[in-house]
Amino acid sequence: MLSQVVELIENKDTFAITTHHRPDGDGLGSSLGLCWLLRSLGKSVEVITSDDIPRTYCSLPGAEEIRRVSRIDRDYDAVFVIECSDLERPGIEGLSDTFTVNIDHHATSDNFGTINWIDPTASAVGEMIYNLCKAIGGRVTREIAECLYLALVTDTGSFHFPNTTERTLKVASELIKAGVNPSKISETIYNSYSWSRISLMSQVLGTVKRDPTGRVAMLRQTIEMKRSAQAVDGDNNGFVNIPLAAREIQAVVYMREVEPGDAFRVSLRSKGDLNVARVAEKFGGGGHRNAAGLRIEGDWDECEAKLVSAILAAIDTNGSNHDGVAEPSAELVLG
Ligand code: 5GP
Ligand code: MN
Repeated sequence: MLSQVVELIENKDTFAITTHHRPDGDGLGSSLGLCWLLRSLGKSVEVITSDDIPRTYCSLPGAEEIRRVSRIDRDYDAVFVIECSDLERPGIEGLSDTFTVNIDHHATSDNFGTINWIDPTASAVGEMIYNLCKAIGGRVTREIAECLYLALVTDTGSFHFPNTTERTLKVASELIKAGVNPSKISETIYNSYSWSRISLMSQVLGTVKRDPTGRVAMLRQTIEMKRSAQAVDGDNNGFVNIPLAAREIQAVVYMREVEPGDAFRVSLRSKGDLNVARVAEKFGGGGHRNAAGLRIEGDWDECEAKLVSAILAAIDTNGSNHDGVAEPSAELVLG
C-alpha cells in the first residue's frame, strides 16, 4: 500500500523502474514521472524496459535515458514494476530475485510484489504517482507533470472513457498548474503518426465487416500488410477502437496473423456493460470488461466465427441480465 511505498523511498537510495513490454502511455508516463520524482528526492534511479520506446513517447522528458535490458544487471534496493499483472509482463529476467514494488490500477494484479500498491479506482497509474508525490511531500516539477499528464490522457482516451473521474480531472488541473501545456501533449500523442501507421491503417480498415446482426465488427491484419506498410510494433495501436465509433457496433474483434496461416493475436473491445474479458477467458485470454485479448490457432474464418458467436452469446446474456438483476459494473480500464 501507499504508506509502505513512501517508507521504502524514504529509507532506500537506489532504484530502478520498469513497466510491461510493448509499453504504452500510462506505463511510460508513470515510470518516467516516478523517475523524476525520485530524482528530485536525491535518489539514484533509472528506467529500464525490455522493448524499444514507441516513437510517440520518445519526446517525454527522460525518455532518451531509458535503458534497454533483458535481465536485472545492476544492484538496486528495489525495482518498481508499473502496470503489470505479473512478473513476466516486463520481459526482464531476474525480477523474481529482486525486491519489487508492484504499482497498478488493474484489480486483476496477482500481488507478485514485495510491496503491492493497487488502486482500481485510479484512472491511470499516473494518477497514483501524483498521489505518491503528494504523500511524500515532493514538488510536482514540470517534468513530472508532463509525464503524468500524458499517462492520464492516454489511459482515459483524452478524458472520454468511463474511467475518467472527478479526481482524474482535478489531478489533470494540478498538472496543468505545474506547467503542462495540454495542447502540446495532445499534439505529441495524436499528430505524430508515421506514414507506415497510416498505410497499415488503410489496409486493416479495408477489411472491416459486420456480423449479420450488425452488432459486432471484425478487423483483420495479415503479416503481409505489416510488411508492405513497413510497420513497426505499435503502428497499429488503437485500430481496434475505430469501428466502435459506429453507433450500432457493440464489440470489435481484431485478429492479427502472427504465424503464417494459423496463429492469431486477438484484441476484443466492447461498449458499456458487455464484458469481453469473460469472452477472452473462454479462449484462454483475459483483460478488462471493455478491453481484452487472447491468442487463437486455426483458420481465419473459423476462428472469427467462434469469437463472434461467443460475443453474440455474451450480448444476449447481457440483455437478459438487464431484464433481471443488472450486472455489477466492473472497473473499466483501457490501457
Ligand atoms: P490489447 O488488445 O490492447 O492487446 O489488450 C487489451 C487488454 O487485454 C490488456 O489490458 C491486456 O492486459 C489484456 N490481454 C491481452 N491479451 C491477453 C492475453 O492473452 N491474456 C490475458 N490474460 N490478458 C490479455
Ligand atoms: Mn494504465
